[in-house]
This record gives sequence, structure tokens and C-alpha cells, in this order.
Amino acid sequence: MTSSAAVTLPLSHLFPLSAGLSSEGRLAFDGIDVLDLAREFGTPLYIYDAQTVRAQCAAFRSAFETAYEDSFVVYGAKAFVNRPFARLIADQGLGFDAVSGGEIAVLRASGVDMSTVYFHGNNKGADELELAVEAGIGRIVIDNIDEIAKADGAAAAAGREQPVLLRISPGIDGHTHEKTTTGIIDTKFGVPIATGAAEAAVRAILDAPHLRFRGLHMHLGSPIFELGPYELAIEVISEFIAGVCRDRLGAEVQELSPGGGFAIGQGDGREPPAPEQYAKVIAGTLEREADRRGFPLPRLTIEPGRAIAARAGVALYTVGARKDVPGVRTYVSVDGGMADNIRPAMYEARYEALAAERPLAAVEETVTISGKYCESGDVLVRDAELPVLRDGELLAIPASGAYQLSMASNYNFAYRPAVVLVDGGEARLIRRRETAEDLMALDID
Ligand SMILES: *Cc1c(COP(=O)(O)O)cnc(C)c1O
Repeated sequence: MTSSAAVTLPLSHLFPLSAGLSSEGRLAFDGIDVLDLAREFGTPLYIYDAQTVRAQCAAFRSAFETAYEDSFVVYGAKAFVNRPFARLIADQGLGFDAVSGGEIAVLRASGVDMSTVYFHGNNKGADELELAVEAGIGRIVIDNIDEIAKADGAAAAAGREQPVLLRISPGIDGHTHEKTTTGIIDTKFGVPIATGAAEAAVRAILDAPHLRFRGLHMHLGSPIFELGPYELAIEVISEFIAGVCRDRLGAEVQELSPGGGFAIGQGDGREPPAPEQYAKVIAGTLEREADRRGFPLPRLTIEPGRAIAARAGVALYTVGARKDVPGVRTYVSVDGGMADNIRPAMYEARYEALAAERPLAAVEETVTISGKYCESGDVLVRDAELPVLRDGELLAIPASGAYQLSMASNYNFAYRPAVVLVDGGEARLIRRRETAEDLMALDID
């Protein structure tokens, strides 16, 4: 990192904080050259930068703790989790959102304090509820009326009193993709206020002998680039807190979570608000509403997933076949694709790519980066501006840390990629690449 240290890396706002140039002029993380990483661990490879994870955790903690004294940050583990990654997050003082028995099992095996874990989901199984209660989970976030009796039954069987939140669907549009909006009335998530269902649900929780009503939750979708939806949703829920929970049911809302959904820079030119801006609007609206309506300030819990993990992760591929369709498009294929990143195919997620071995090389053409799997929709980046890529060279896609590996599949019997964590100038393998034996391990002859 000598002669080139002063040169700015292209797309540096999308790459992890430790990204830079190696002494050979290649992309490097914490000074570790991508070519060395590719030689040691193979491609496709997912590289996570511990420094960025820590910085994002600290940014959300400090923004919210500054804006609102009683606040707590939990990481939406479905963005990406495994045992070492969970420990890294827990060490920063965050709790966790889990959405399945599998995630609860991983968090438990990681040794995280289960009382900091929130269990979400619109159709939690009886076995999952039992596991959650038995593991001593901090909160079950009740998603619908039917779940109340199931959760109460699980708590009764374990001989516990289980603290719960109720997920409200506030009827607010987060203005994100239709597949990722969750706060509107027409969604499978949460209990609507408008129909009276939310009031009935709070009443049923209060009547459940083994559940303790702690408060309310909502999640508007993701990513949410606007601040307005959070403000509107907190206004709507505040009216419910005062007008229904307090005045009609005599229930105190001790905790409120406006969910996650905080946006990141992703290469489409849109600027995400800073954590401070989200914090200011969320805390400011809640304080104003509590003051105006005269209810005590609840604990504020926020749940960033993407905003913690996305920028920390980079996908590294090796370039392979090239296909020119004159006058139409040029396809450049890499050794991964929709099996490790379904997001472009599923909801038109936009990415950028960088020639990792010569990041400063001039742009020469516009190509489509395609994957290697048997679907025409297996495209990673449409219209990427790159130098003419050679067969065998490395390509890096930044902002790859969230909802890629956690949605990865074995389609075409792909081996899911290895994951390395770069920390303090060292690269540590935290998940090995799958093998053919892994793919067959569950078969019974
Ligand atoms: C997925 C999810 C989150 C995290 O969302 P991000 O967009 O990754 O911040 C938070 N809360 C709930 C309930 C979720 O389902």
C-alpha cells in the first residue's frame, strides 16, 4: 500500500472500509491482496471485513443512543449469520432478530445471550415456539392472532412467562420493491390496526396467562431510502398506543420497535440516509408523540440487518466465457451467479463490479455480468462498465454482504462459497466451501 495509497479506489463508497490497493495495484482488504485470497480460498469467495461490521454496529448504536437514551440495536440475522459472525456482532453489544428455529439454533450455538434475541415470523411452527421459549428467548414477536394461543401453550409447557411484542401492520408504504414492502395493509406480515385486529390481539395477549405483553413492533420493508415512512408509522402506532392500548385496554407499551429496513449505497446512485438521520426522525417523532399524547417513553429497539452486513461483504468471482451478440449485448460469465446471489433475478437488485486485479484500469465497454447457472435470468450486473475482462481474471462485486449467502442455494448442485473474515491484517476462513460430499451427505441409498 505504498505508492498507490493516495489513489482513491473506484466505488470506494460501496466497498468495505479496509478496501484499498495492494503494492501490486490490485484490490486489497486490510492490505491483503485479492489474488492471494483467491489462490488460498478459491472463487466464488465471500470476503467480510470485520472493521466495517464493527463500524456499522457502532454507528447505529451511537446514533440511536445519542438521539434516545433507552435504545437497543438488534441485528437482523437473516441478512447473514453463522457462528463466528454472530460472535462478532454480539461483541459489539447488539442483540439479534431470528426468524426461524434454524437461526435460533445457530445463535444459541454461538453462545450469544438468548435474552437479547427477538423471534419474528408470520408462521412460526409449534416446534419453533417451543425451542424459542426453552432457549430463553428475549421476545417472541407475535405476528397474528392464532399465534397467541400457540405461544402461550409453549410457555405453559416450559413453565415460563414469555415476554412478547405484537407486530402491527401500520398501513404505511415504505416505497420499496413490491416484494420487499411489508408495512402496507395487503401484506402477510403483522396485525392491522384499521380492521380492529390489532386491538383484539393485544386483548388476547393480556388474557394469555403465560405471556407478558411488553409492547409493539413494526417493520416497513427494505430498503427504505425515505425518512417519511418511519415518521408516519410512528405517528400511527402512537395513536394506537394512547388511544387503544392505554385508554381502552389499560396496557402499557414499554417497548416499541420500528423494525429495520435502513438502506445502503448499492450502486444505483441513490444516497441512503445516515444512521443519525434515521435516529433523529425516529426518536424525534416518538418523543413528540409521547409528549403530545402523554404516554411514557418506551424502550426503542431498532433492527438493522442489511445496513450492518451489506457493505462489509464483497463477492469475488473468476471471469470465464464471453459471448458477444453484435448490436445487442455482450455477456461475460463468472464462476458464480444466482446460486450465491439471487437478488438481481428476484427483485432487480442493482450492483456494480470492479476488475479486482486492476481496479484503476480505464472503462472500455459496457457488458452484462452473467452467472453460470441454467437460467436466462441468471444475471448479476446488467450494463456494467468495465475494462475488457480476460478469461481467468478476478471480478469483485461490492455491497454483497447481506441477503446473498443467506439466500444461497445449491441450484445446479452448486457448492456454496467459502467465507473469509478479514480482521487486523489477517484473513480467517469462517466457513469452508461446500464439497460434492456435502451435497450428497443427506442422501440415503
Ligand atoms: C428482515 C427484518 C429486519 C432487517 O431488515 P433489513 O432490511 O435487513 O434492515 C428487521 N426486522 C424484521 C422483523 C425483519 O423481518
